[in-house]
Amino acid sequence: MAYDPENIFAKILRGEIPCDKVLETEHVLAFKDINPLAPTHVLVVPKGAYVSMDDFTANASDAEIAALFRATGDLARELGVAEDGYRILSNCGGNGHQEVPHLHVHLFGGRPLGRMLSRPAG
Ligand code: 5GP
Repeated sequence: MAYDPENIFAKILRGEIPCDKVLETEHVLAFKDINPLAPTHVLVVPKGAYVSMDDFTANASDAEIAALFRATGDLARELGVAEDGYRILSNCGGNGHQEVPHLHVHLFGGRPLGRMLSRPAG
């Protein structure tokens, strides 16, 4: 999938739309999800124009890739969810039910999060 520079996270990264920022580094911006599904629900976003995890690992630099994962783990500690446990999740593509076509990692915590996926009915 080609990168769409008009996606909502691209606009946040350009400062055209506000966000509730929790961390910013050279390669990463992290902000609170506008519709949180847990007491802690943060989106960790590379600043580069990548659609998905497979696009990211194919085209990003080692520094960008390290920065995304370092920021995610650092935030788990800094937001106070590391001790009780948390979940990271990245929805990619159609089957992944990705809504915003700019790579992002969800960081959830602050309550028991249940099973990883619901089982298909039937
Ligand atoms: P996904 O693409 O992983 O399915 O989900 C996109 C996520 O982005 C959703 O959890 C949604 O609530 C969040 N989101 C969509 N638009 C905005 C926005 O304008 N600001 C923020 N902070 N989060 C957003």
